[in-house]
Amino acid sequence: MQSQSITRPRKLTRAAAADLYARLAEARPEPRTELDYVNPFTLVVAVALSAQATDKGVNRATGPLFQIVDTPEKMVALGEDGLAAHIKTIGLWRSKAKNVIALSQQLIDLHGGEVPHDRAALEALPGVGRKTANVVLAEAFGEATIAVDTHVFRVANRTGLAAGKTPEAVEQQLLRITPPEYMQGAHHWLILHGRYVCLARTPKCLVCPVNEICLYRHKTGAQVKVSARASAKKPAPSGAKAKKR
Ligand code: SF4
Repeated sequence: MQSQSITRPRKLTRAAAADLYARLAEARPEPRTELDYVNPFTLVVAVALSAQATDKGVNRATGPLFQIVDTPEKMVALGEDGLAAHIKTIGLWRSKAKNVIALSQQLIDLHGGEVPHDRAALEALPGVGRKTANVVLAEAFGEATIAVDTHVFRVANRTGLAAGKTPEAVEQQLLRITPPEYMQGAHHWLILHGRYVCLARTPKCLVCPVNEICLYRHKTGAQVKVSARASAKKPAPSGAKAKKR
């Protein structure tokens, strides 16, 4: 039988989770996606283009694109080559161009040119996975979903908010532990925290607003702070009071 003390994931309590969200919310009162879009269709396109790319890079390409193309019909008319010319600065542009034209055609053929408010229909679109569907459901339709990308996955596991080995396991745990009042902003708070504070290689624990709640064992900078405070409280060893170096 496996030892539970070794295998059991470290998790925050509900109260600690609520405190964590409260602090993230205080740091960023109005969280929103950093992807630019003008309607649900351009949101789908922007999120599909953002896989393995930065939001800034996507925005640079979609700014001029969305000024002339903001519907599936216009996207199909632009065509794969026309779209490729706009997005060549984005990684995986060939396959993304192909998918965006195909998903635009599918929106016309099956949904009257509208983005469906339906998870299964969204996930059936070419190049659209669970994460993209979650972003669209939350952002365009206000649904209580939490999209788990690489930043959310890392922050959730490190902090103990939602420990899980797969994005879907983390998503389910996040949905269970996130208080209703923080559900709408949760994805944005976690993604922005991962992007700017809880960095993959060197998290900025020393300036992190959830430092005191987070269960991550390898905090950087924060350890210095804690150990300095701990050593300050230590009683002086007997006989050491006269010795100064
Ligand atoms: S304390 Fe460090 S590891 Fe924990 S959430 Fe903050 S930056 Fe990330």
